[in-house]
Amino acid sequence: PDLSPDFTIDTTDTDYTVFQITLPTDEAIGATRIIDAIATAHNTSRATAFTELLHGTTGEVKVTLNCYRNLDTGDMHLENHKLTGIAPDTWMRRVTDLTVPSHSTHHGRLATEAQKALIAGIDGTCRAPGCDNPAATADADHIHRYDNNPHTGTREMQSLCRRCHILKTLGLTDYTRLTDGTTIVSSIDDNHTVTTVPTGPLAHANLTFDRCLAHKTRTRKEHQKLRDTWNYITRCAFQNVGASAIIVEEAPIPF
Ligand SMILES: [Zn+2]
Repeated sequence: PDLSPDFTIDTTDTDYTVFQITLPTDEAIGATRIIDAIATAHNTSRATAFTELLHGTTGEVKVTLNCYRNLDTGDMHLENHKLTGIAPDTWMRRVTDLTVPSHSTHHGRLATEAQKALIAGIDGTCRAPGCDNPAATADADHIHRYDNNPHTGTREMQSLCRRCHILKTLGLTDYTRLTDGTTIVSSIDDNHTVTTVPTGPLAHANLTFDRCLAHKTRTRKEHQKLRDTWNYITRCAFQNVGASAIIVEEAPIPF
């Protein structure tokens, strides 16, 4: 709570300048994902991506950030980070699409964005033992070889960061996922067996379809109410400073 965002500029050296930027963790996660997406799309460094972003010369780069909100407790996470203070309101205002997560199957090789969000939301981090790379940037891995099981689904998928995914693909690690989400990982080298459990905000969520359907209407209603309130506040603020009120198009929330 005591943290204040800060931006210091150190020009001691004549050849380069050092920026030191301090942001709350949730804003830093958003900023990192955006800068990394630009760096990946342009095959460049984070520093170059940052300057391109400031100049508006990045072209179209798409970034998906996933928030998870528990309707019973009101708890909200950005990826694996729990939001506190005013952060839940800030992120709710940024929401563009809503979905009620439930396990599902897919017929193509790749999972959809919503399915990836579900898998990352359950796992929290890469599921390899001792690896805490975020699930949000990890691959959605088919636990069993895709070729043997073309009609696979989210129950048979897990988050593995690129490095751990490569070790699995090379056959150096073997994964078995139990129905409760627990994973048994064995290392081919030394025959060690380790168990890992999901730690994401959806790790203990009820993800069966019946319950989700009941929640769907409620989610939609609550979100619309928050958005209406925010639009009203914005309109009043504009009127107070003498500007003409902006008309906010009320598009239906897509599911
Ligand atoms: Zn990993």
